[in-house]
Amino acid sequence: MQLNFIANAQVPSASGRVLPVLDPSDGQAFTEIQRSQASDIDAAVRAARDCYEGVWHKTSAAERSRLLYRLSQKIAEHADELTALEQRDCGKPTKQARADALALVRYFEFYAGACDKLHGETIPYQDGYSVFTWREPHGVTGHVIPWNYPMQIFGRSVGGALAAGNVCVVKPAEDACLSLLRVAQLAAEVGFPAGALNIVTGYGHEVGDALARHPGIDHISFTGSPKVGTIIQQVAAERHCPVTLELGGKSPQIIFADADLDAAIPVVINAIVQNAGQTCSAGSRVLIQRDIYEPLLERLGKAFEALRVGPAAMDLDVGPLIRQSQQQRVWDFLSDAHAANIPMVAQGRVVDEAPDTGFYQAPTLLRDVPVDHRLAQEEVFGPVLAAMAFSDEDEAVALANATQFGLVAGVWTRDGARQFRMAKRVKSGQVFINNYGAGGGVELPFGGVKSSGYGREKGFEALYGFTTLKTVAVRHG
Ligand code: NAD
Repeated sequence: MQLNFIANAQVPSASGRVLPVLDPSDGQAFTEIQRSQASDIDAAVRAARDCYEGVWHKTSAAERSRLLYRLSQKIAEHADELTALEQRDCGKPTKQARADALALVRYFEFYAGACDKLHGETIPYQDGYSVFTWREPHGVTGHVIPWNYPMQIFGRSVGGALAAGNVCVVKPAEDACLSLLRVAQLAAEVGFPAGALNIVTGYGHEVGDALARHPGIDHISFTGSPKVGTIIQQVAAERHCPVTLELGGKSPQIIFADADLDAAIPVVINAIVQNAGQTCSAGSRVLIQRDIYEPLLERLGKAFEALRVGPAAMDLDVGPLIRQSQQQRVWDFLSDAHAANIPMVAQGRVVDEAPDTGFYQAPTLLRDVPVDHRLAQEEVFGPVLAAMAFSDEDEAVALANATQFGLVAGVWTRDGARQFRMAKRVKSGQVFINNYGAGGGVELPFGGVKSSGYGREKGFEALYGFTTLKTVAVRHG
């Protein structure tokens, strides 16, 4: 059984209640986590506050840097163990689970190097004054983490917060806690003081809500659905608590007729099947210039048909979805597509070895999806790609921007001037030209516009969000 991690100790929830943890590959329970309540959050926030006031606040940036670096190295030593945990807990094929563990190493390595480089400024002002700014940590930051990339999102959110001098209370998703509980133990082993990093598990509407409401939380970082993002903002607004939100997207891959299709095709496929499509930045719409619509759909269709889905341990192209309700969500989208006569171009195949009790979904390519259909508007969070045709740049931009979201866009063209025009006109937090995701570099700031959220994590930019600016003006005559 898994326990909460508070003040460097493994502790049961106050109520003693637990939740089963299912393996998405076979749908069977294999361990339990704590079903915590508000009182457990309260204990974690008190431990964090004590740490902040007593130790962390006085710890030099250089010492924080050493601790973060030691943690990155410790995670690297335990990469196999974390890969195995994540594979079983989230149903991730081995290579994806390992990529997540290695990304976590890199996040702590990057933020270790950033701790002592977060400067304020001096400001030229009237004669007789000296004015400067300090970047100060918020204090105790709350982190609500989703189930799709627990290690990566923990790395970018908690790594940045600790580097900026905060202490953290983390609420992982109820479907994916195991790797993060283990990382918290590793943090204690490398010398993080008690209370610097606390993890409390349980349901979002119970323990996540308690975290968002707690008056001792000074900033909230949330990654998840737009619906819960709205709730978090409303709750946080009651006490004017700042929030960073990353709420997913309906990201377009825009392919012009002059694009290098050999380069684009594998990237377009990977961007929708990676992690079974359960990725905030999934490239879930492919917008194709009309001149190449038919031949490109044919090539994409062939690539979809070759995709194989199966248990995480088989390490195929695609693993299972996280849980049955997510599988049902994808089925609902597909049956809506069927009812609307949206043509299916191709599907991958679930292998025979996949247990019937696992949460599998074959990757599916749909074409001629009307711009106002929910498949062109809403986040499916499954391996379903919606293809649409456009005639020219103006139409491509109009389609790309025609959703409530604005997270990522991929643009594929050899025309240099068009690359810049498209990058300017598409409304999103990131635009990738002739690539998609730039290899996921931890150095690159990441976040959305519109309903994809606001604030930035990853990169040095995240440190501004995890600090508040104090202006100091000294009158010296
Ligand atoms: P969710 O938003 O409900 O869960 C995300 C996190 O928020 C989890 O830790 C959850 O426990 C917590 N949470 C839930 N209700 C809460 C509340 N009232 N207060 C505080 N925390 C709360 O997401 P989900 O239900 O697991 O997935 C639903 C949909 O959300 C998905 O289909 C997908 O479209 C989207 N999603 C997006 C991302 C992303 O990376 N942007 C991640 C996960 C889910």
